[in-house]
Amino acid sequence: MYEEVSRSIDDDLHSSVDALKKLVEIPTVAAKGEGIPETSELVERMLRDAGLETQIHPTSGAPVVTGWLDVGAKRTLLFYDHYDVQPAEPMDLWASPPFEPEVREGRLWGRGVADNKGDTTSRIQVIKAFKETGTDLPVNIKFVIEGEEEIGSPHLPEYTKKNKDFITADGGIWEFGGADIDGIQEAWLGLKGIYYVELEVERLSKNVHSSLACILPSAAYRLVWALSTLRDGNSRILIDGFYDGMKPLTKAEIKAIEKIDLHEADFKEIYAVDEYLNGLSGMELKKAYYGAPTCNICGITSGYQGRGSMTVLPAKASVKIDFRLIEGMHPDEIHRKLRRHLDSHGFNDIKIGYIEGYPPAKTPISHPFVKIVKAANRRVFGDLIIHPTSPGSGPLYLFNRYVPMVSVGCSDHLGNAHSPNESISLENFRRAQHRIVAIIDEMSRW
Ligand SMILES: [Zn+2]
Repeated sequence: MYEEVSRSIDDDLHSSVDALKKLVEIPTVAAKGEGIPETSELVERMLRDAGLETQIHPTSGAPVVTGWLDVGAKRTLLFYDHYDVQPAEPMDLWASPPFEPEVREGRLWGRGVADNKGDTTSRIQVIKAFKETGTDLPVNIKFVIEGEEEIGSPHLPEYTKKNKDFITADGGIWEFGGADIDGIQEAWLGLKGIYYVELEVERLSKNVHSSLACILPSAAYRLVWALSTLRDGNSRILIDGFYDGMKPLTKAEIKAIEKIDLHEADFKEIYAVDEYLNGLSGMELKKAYYGAPTCNICGITSGYQGRGSMTVLPAKASVKIDFRLIEGMHPDEIHRKLRRHLDSHGFNDIKIGYIEGYPPAKTPISHPFVKIVKAANRRVFGDLIIHPTSPGSGPLYLFNRYVPMVSVGCSDHLGNAHSPNESISLENFRRAQHRIVAIIDEMSRW
């Protein structure tokens, strides 16, 4: 089926790689607001060259680029991707410059190749292969490509609220995915929610001589005391009502995760730990991975942290905390509960800066579109591990009400997303394109 399209994907692999390189050459770092207009325009051009109708939707932040092709088919396939990337720092750890993509050892190296410019390109190239071989697409196609995923998609709701009619499809492919440590492909059906805050406390007009700690209050201790009320020694989150309404994993999800190998021993070695949190292992470890919320300190700042000693009593202290949220939890509610918790523990002087937040979302494991992706994957890669949710987060909730989403992609465990020396295997990049063709084919017979 679709031999010509498949042949064109293989024969034109070098031009797909060139298209990806051009995209990677623009440092689209959303955190610094860099490269946004150029990249959105390039992505729009790529979609147009693939035969799609396009639009660039301005928002108060980075624009959202959409593409669509209505062939009058019964089924519609939607792709969600993002054209922004993480900052490349620390630069000195890269073997080749992050924004000068380079092929070595069968892999393409550069910031964003794995997350998510590689997948964005591979999906557009498939539609282009249909156009260039004069092959009729058997399903309608939609793309929604945003430019602020790496900073929590703060302006994507502006687009999705105004374009509810566009965000409808029979199935959707989410931005990430790839092969696990054994080379087996993985699909992710959901994402946890997130609530990200910065807590700040200020106790003095300025930093003063630390000898005065005998008579003046300490911002650093205030913060540490407040933090110690959030989580106990067994990682139980102590915010009043934090777990209220949280939905446990379903029976079907528990059955699915029984079969999954989380490679406990391998990751202990990779992370250099003797044991997981609270000695978790086996099913209990899996239940936490897929079904537990978190309260994590991302960074904590106060006083002097340079070389040697400086005797100082710091005026201010701050901490960045992220909470991963499970179905049934909402960041706005956790925000209210956190405020109430701090107040009731005597910490009403601690300010909460709400940095980002969105709820979790999942596609049910029994949805027919999940079977379609599984069947398509079998034709190209073989086995597919189906994770009910990723432990990570993303704005899936904006789509999941209208589109059942599955996340499969061209990355692998060597991909180094968000780290120096990010890369993808060119063979996975090629085969991921064939999998999209197979998804399109399977969908047309649904
Ligand atoms: Zn990312």
